[in-house]
Amino acid sequence: MAIERKELPAAAVDRQLEICARLRVRLTAGGARPLAFVDTYGCQQNEADSERLRGYLREMGFGFTQDECEADVIVINTCAVREHAEQRVLGNVGALGHTKRARPGQLIALCGCMVERPGMAERIRRSYRLVDLAFGPQELWRFPELLEQAMARKGRVCAVGGADTVAEGLPVCRREGPKAWLPVMYGCNNFCSYCVVPYVRGRERSRRPEAVVDEARRLIASGVHDITLLGQNVNSYGRDLEGADFPSLVRAVCALDGDFLVRFMTSHPKDATDALFRAMAESEKCARHLHLPVQSGSDRILRAMNRHYDRAAYLEKVACARARMPGLVLTTDIIVGFPGETEEDFADTLSLVEQVEYDAMFTFLFSPRPGTPAAELPDPTPRAEKQARFDRLLETANAISARKHAAYLGKTERVLVDGADEARPGTLCARTNGGRLVRFEGDPALIGTFTSVRITGCSTWALDGEQV
Ligand code: SAH
Ligand code: SF4
Repeated sequence: MAIERKELPAAAVDRQLEICARLRVRLTAGGARPLAFVDTYGCQQNEADSERLRGYLREMGFGFTQDECEADVIVINTCAVREHAEQRVLGNVGALGHTKRARPGQLIALCGCMVERPGMAERIRRSYRLVDLAFGPQELWRFPELLEQAMARKGRVCAVGGADTVAEGLPVCRREGPKAWLPVMYGCNNFCSYCVVPYVRGRERSRRPEAVVDEARRLIASGVHDITLLGQNVNSYGRDLEGADFPSLVRAVCALDGDFLVRFMTSHPKDATDALFRAMAESEKCARHLHLPVQSGSDRILRAMNRHYDRAAYLEKVACARARMPGLVLTTDIIVGFPGETEEDFADTLSLVEQVEYDAMFTFLFSPRPGTPAAELPDPTPRAEKQARFDRLLETANAISARKHAAYLGKTERVLVDGADEARPGTLCARTNGGRLVRFEGDPALIGTFTSVRITGCSTWALDGEQV
């Protein structure tokens, strides 16, 4: 296979950092402290992208605020996976009109997957005149340059259709806490028939393993105890690199010194191999957690979704993973109401869910995305019927989840303490190795550390415990 590297030269990112330094001088003149508000929709990759946007903004001298009204720059990092997410963004952008009127000079930037959707840039230009800057995910590495242009106010700036590149050396401003996202690859080649991601995030390209391992090492040194390796199809990592593959990457990160856990998402079943399960099982540092989206339990629908596996192959992978890792926590994504899904197809999904007994599930109603093949398919099932299926699936998922949680009662789990439970003063939130939420009363000094908790109670969503 031809190997095509799309890595940007270091000088390209250095030039962006020079722009940051230049802007910093200007923006902080006379002791001023400019403020930015960064709002993030959608997936973990978007969270990771926003950490890089904040990294650049910090280099420019910005502080951060949660209040749009006092922000000099507002950045909205959008999602396009479902229509609902887009409507929310557009509604919220419209509502920014009053903050902008109250704060002339405020700059509003829109970025992320929604901006990259065909026709969207034009729609923003026409109908959302308060947006000064719009750019797609592939242009994020040159945010400083785009922001500088927008600040010069020589008109509105729009950058979409950028090349699929890998940029290293971007500054990162992570949220406080013991958990970190670590993007290992970008884009997706799968073209599942319902999904907009390959159209807006471009083709798969992997970071070099050395860059990933280096970043992991730095994260661990800075006090991170839980690293999630990210990719839209993370277990196809390395196809564009010589001598790299995902199991080897998992091994290399797990081999680093320190007390930490490694997990990853999202794995595609077609690339979930025994070699990967072996690599996971080999290291105690690899979390016993696998997020393996099945999408549907019906072979007919899986074919229509262009998923490249069938029910039997999926179940075989699950059995193989569980044989290698007893006690593995398994989670999934399911789409209900894909065009043409019959009651029988849906029954196949329900039976698969019962059979696998997922620890947790993310369920979605099919949302037609313009430009994807599935959006063109006849879809005769009434909305109410889809909703009824969705509710049945949720009921099944909740019953399984409650059952699974009940099995923790009386057990002692090593957990990583994430933070305080805002709804319940004195209560801390933690995660088990498999990613289950545990709440217990404890000293806030425990935040950011591992501790042991005996599970004393449970609900559908969470476990309760006491420190031992
Ligand atoms: N790369 C990841 C994430 C894709 S989006 C993956 O492959 O799993 C996250 C989830 O959103 C998908 O797993 C799918 O269940 C859901 N999804 C994607 N497109 C959708 C659509 N058009 N309608 C409803 N759900 C969708
Ligand atoms: Fe979308 Fe499929 Fe790629 Fe996931 S694997 S991002 S669902 S096209």
